[in-house]
Amino acid sequence: MIDKIKSGWEKIITFLRDDYELSPVSFNTWIKPMIPTSIEKDSRGNFTLIITVPSTPFKTYVTKKYSLSLAVAIEEITFIRCNVVFKEKKEQESKKVQKKLIDNKRHPVNDLKLLSSNLNPAYTFDTFVVGKSNDLAHATAIAVAESPGSQNPGEHYNPFFIYGGVGLGKTHLMHSIAHYILEHNPDANILYVSSEKFLNEYIDALKNSNLAEYRAKYRNVDVLLIDDIQFIGGKDAIQEELFHTFNALYEQKKQIILSSDKPPMELKNLEERLRSRFAWGVAVEIFSPDFETRMAILRSKEERDGKNIDNEVIQFIATNIKSNIRMLEGALNKLYAMSRLNKNQEIDIDLAKSVLKDMITPDAPTKITSEYIATVVADHFNITVAELKAKGRKEPVATARHITVYLCRKMTNDTQTKIGQFLGDRDHSTIVNSEDVITKRITADSELNQTIETIKKKISPQ
Ligand code: ADP
Ligand code: MG
Repeated sequence: MIDKIKSGWEKIITFLRDDYELSPVSFNTWIKPMIPTSIEKDSRGNFTLIITVPSTPFKTYVTKKYSLSLAVAIEEITFIRCNVVFKEKKEQESKKVQKKLIDNKRHPVNDLKLLSSNLNPAYTFDTFVVGKSNDLAHATAIAVAESPGSQNPGEHYNPFFIYGGVGLGKTHLMHSIAHYILEHNPDANILYVSSEKFLNEYIDALKNSNLAEYRAKYRNVDVLLIDDIQFIGGKDAIQEELFHTFNALYEQKKQIILSSDKPPMELKNLEERLRSRFAWGVAVEIFSPDFETRMAILRSKEERDGKNIDNEVIQFIATNIKSNIRMLEGALNKLYAMSRLNKNQEIDIDLAKSVLKDMITPDAPTKITSEYIATVVADHFNITVAELKAKGRKEPVATARHITVYLCRKMTNDTQTKIGQFLGDRDHSTIVNSEDVITKRITADSELNQTIETIKKKISPQ
């Protein structure tokens, strides 16, 4: 049976590529390296196909993104119905990327260069703690840093797009790539900007009639990093400008790195031609950190700050502050400050509980209610809860509403009737229908599946 899959593999992945309209980049990056390895049969007679992939982050990503669609493609071509499971190559192999980073020759980067590139000296790979929530983003960032602008097959990460919630390390990771490139090529011309700065400088250039200078600045770099790109949504002139800047850089094989709160295709108030270009390369998500990563980040900061804090205190913070790394760091800073104010009072669990009480609500994890789910879904789609509850059926509101119903059913104990009342007094059958729509679509539509997974993580980090 495995032979049939192996011999049909080219056909299977070609089917997958065509049916799911994968870009050549996604195809080369994620599908080509897969190796169908063996097939197993369980006691109930179900088959599982084991596919070998290069690394753990790779596995995390493709499991989420491609396991369903691959199973469909396999059945379509070979008539074999099976689940798909990915296994990474041996440990040694997957550590290779990390090791390369340490082994490489590095030059110190001079301060002037950092200043002119707008780089924060503290944001480097060395200070970036890697955990389950960010390992794929980190591994891809290293790959980009090692071969910026590359258009070689399997190494084509242009643009590199990092997305995820506030305070999860997007900016830190972008700066890390820039540092790494400068350490290995001190002459590289690198420019990091917030999208706000990119926009404001454009407005100034328009006012002072020096657009030529503005364009020269942004189009003659080796690496351009623009942070929080969602903020240029709805602003036409700057989108036009960015479109041409993007094309100019891309044609010269210069690396473009972008960040945003959502994946490219979900940036609905961005022009289609920009959205589709942003998706040409690789887009990776950073998730909220799990407990182990939160502990590691706190320990790493404590060490850098030259402190030695009681484990109980670190655990207390990691247990109670979950969603955001900026807040984790803020909690430690607040403790330091309070201790200093009180004549270097010892930082113990009692001090931590009293100082941090307004940042956390111990023993009361955020309760997942239908109201809360609606807020997160609305926020994800950039619409209001009022729109979710209103009568209209326009997109993306209709899809957002279906997803809200689906998640309320999955994540709360509310009845269909109760959800209907809450969602603008809709009747029972409408709610049943919404739930059905998503349940049916989710198996075939990996894009939708991905969106729902992202929203679930926003609702319940960890
Ligand atoms: P974002 O851009 O996603 O809002 P930032 O990159 O500004 O988040 O990160 C917020 C803070 O958390 C920064 O001080 C950053 O150094 C720190 N931080 C984020 N991720 C990590 C990490 N993995 N390891 C260490 N520090 C981190
Ligand atoms: Mg940021």
